[in-house]
Amino acid sequence: MQKHILGFPRMGAKRELKKALENYWKGTSSRRDLEETCAAIKRQNWTIQKNAGLSWVTTGDFSLYDHILDITAMIGAVPDRFSPTSNNVDIDTYFRMARGDASANIPPMEMTKWFNTNYHYIVPEISGSLKPTLSCRKIIEETGEAQTAGFNPKPVLVGPITYLSLSKSSDNTDCWNKLEGILAVYAEVIAELGSICEWVQMDEPILCADIALQARKLFKPCYEVLNKAAGKGKLMLTTYFDTLDDNLDLALSSGCSGLHADLVMGKNQLNTILERLPKDMFFSAGIIDGRNVWKTDLRQALHQLENMKKYIGEERLMIASSCSLLHSPMDLKNEKLLDPELKSWMAFAVQKCHEIGILGRALAEENCQEEMQDNAKAIISRKTSVRIKNDQVRERCAKAARKNPKRKSPYSERKKAQSWLKLPLLPTTTIGSFPQTAEIRQYRRRYKNSEMTRGEYDSFLKNKIREIVKKQEDLNLDVLVHGEPERNDMVEYFGQQMEGFCFTENGWVQSYGSRCVKPPIIFGDVSRPNPMTVEWIDFAQSLTEKPVKGMLTGALTILCWSFVRNDLERSQVCRQIALAVKDEVRDLEAAGIRIIQIDEAALSEGLPIKQKDRNAYLRWAVDAFKLATSEVADATQIHTHMCYSEFNDIIDSIAAMDADVISIESSRSRMKLLETFRTFNYPNEIGPGVYDIHSPRVPSVEEIQILLKNALAFIPRERLWVNPDCGLKTRDWPETVDSLKNMAAAANLLRKEFDK
Ligand code: GLN
Ligand code: ZN
Repeated sequence: MQKHILGFPRMGAKRELKKALENYWKGTSSRRDLEETCAAIKRQNWTIQKNAGLSWVTTGDFSLYDHILDITAMIGAVPDRFSPTSNNVDIDTYFRMARGDASANIPPMEMTKWFNTNYHYIVPEISGSLKPTLSCRKIIEETGEAQTAGFNPKPVLVGPITYLSLSKSSDNTDCWNKLEGILAVYAEVIAELGSICEWVQMDEPILCADIALQARKLFKPCYEVLNKAAGKGKLMLTTYFDTLDDNLDLALSSGCSGLHADLVMGKNQLNTILERLPKDMFFSAGIIDGRNVWKTDLRQALHQLENMKKYIGEERLMIASSCSLLHSPMDLKNEKLLDPELKSWMAFAVQKCHEIGILGRALAEENCQEEMQDNAKAIISRKTSVRIKNDQVRERCAKAARKNPKRKSPYSERKKAQSWLKLPLLPTTTIGSFPQTAEIRQYRRRYKNSEMTRGEYDSFLKNKIREIVKKQEDLNLDVLVHGEPERNDMVEYFGQQMEGFCFTENGWVQSYGSRCVKPPIIFGDVSRPNPMTVEWIDFAQSLTEKPVKGMLTGALTILCWSFVRNDLERSQVCRQIALAVKDEVRDLEAAGIRIIQIDEAALSEGLPIKQKDRNAYLRWAVDAFKLATSEVADATQIHTHMCYSEFNDIIDSIAAMDADVISIESSRSRMKLLETFRTFNYPNEIGPGVYDIHSPRVPSVEEIQILLKNALAFIPRERLWVNPDCGLKTRDWPETVDSLKNMAAAANLLRKEFDK
């Protein structure tokens, strides 16, 4: 029985790669040190796969920054601004593409989300002058390295159709014009790999997305070339993250020796695939979830595999992870503090490799009774645990589902009811957080390590809030915030105070480059036993006559940035969280808070891959927001915030959320945003960010004024707000004060002009 995974996490169990990279970038360690760390991580990853009994170990999945950028390096598509001097993309050129070159004022290549994951890849830039040449032999070398070390490698490449589908043109040449040249480089690489390996894995997840007509047309001829190049090596066409649907034919007729399909995200496609699988094609069954933390029900998986085996025989069947394990944390063994019962329900990357190994042995009728039994026990424990279900929550959700949440009056009426806020035209505000200084982080750490009492920590935070409120009053901002000094993270902070969440110590997942996130895990029904923010907001409000905004993270953002239980629909989990947020909204309102902001930074991140599924998602996403906010009085002002501005496709849904005010990031793609507002008359109030908070640069009064004037061309003055792009937590105080001073001054000058 053949078994494999599509890729393994790269960071190392203790994020060794992160540290090694950052030291190298800082110049505190040598290239040699970095290479040694990489070699050790790779060796460890391969050993894990081998020990789990997998048939091959993956190579080429390891990357110093990003596996799409690796292909860019392989074909030599270095954008001109990095002035490539030779056909050899060395590691420093590679890092310059990823991170830019601040000293020479060269911006990095753009980065964007890898399908609907939270992993970000570097967007390839294709120019008319590109002459693809084999410029980096990393995958070949790495494969050789594995072989020399006694492993049986299966190299992994992102395929040319996906690569070009995700590319952007830097000079309006059609990226597909370059396919032939790029293909020649792939062919060269695949020829070498095919001569030393049994299989070469070609990742084409684009086949599970809305693929462009052009790409569809070029797919077959392209794979003809690659299959020929592979010689006696076999190509495995891997698809994942969704079903193949309309592209199934394309995949089945690719001429590749094997096809991999995601049976977790695309369960329903199994029968169709088996029925139509060509007689000589291998089938890799992606049955172990590569994107979540839960143990697989091995008995059920085995049953499914046995059926597949009956259908296509055991020689052609492979057991696999649904996608690369890049998207799951590495090793459960490193979780010493996790509740043992919850831990017994989970499997991280290492454990997932073992699950595949066990299934392989079970299917081959080798002895693995004990493991199968242990697994069955864990599955039953999870299914029957009293900790996952809360009848009250279920009832409340069912009731909420029958209603259509809506504010009491339309926006125009609410606007009148909110006049008691006495806000001027172009009200100024911020997005919530103020600088998280070293001092704040140090106090948090000391409190966490029990070096200080709760009382001491609280009074420290209150002092900070006092300072932050005072600073905003001095700046004469109109709507104040408490500054969020008590929050380490906008999702974790809320998760820690809700039932149904748990947290890991080392459950890191790569977000981009050396950056990792540690998502909370939602294991059970969600509720909020006690107020989460009221004490802080109330305290801040007691310090000032001006309105202080209550600051919450929305249900959808909490959902999108967590590992979510897989035994309940996402929309249901989202509704549960929305009800918890609603409780908090109610308590804030009862405490006299007049403005409440609910951040939905991740609304667009949760969008399904395929257009056809988007409306259904947007419907329940918008409903969750409305559920949390609809019961407040007309006189209470609801804000939302989004760190995203490519709104064209979803602007209707954003309007349907019916927040009184929305603040959005806009400095990085201002023109596009305004374009959206030219064609769509956004009905409520809006604050397009007037400066980029990612940079320490202080924007001038004039520049902010110009931006506001541009915005006024599309948004009437009664509905325009003035605010930065996002929270200020990553900034320092001096630049923050200077920037906000200029922001307030610009708003003031415009108000004076209105008076003339
Ligand atoms: N209120 C949060 C903050 O200001 C919002 C952060 C975000 O949108 N990512 O930090
Ligand atoms: Zn933001």
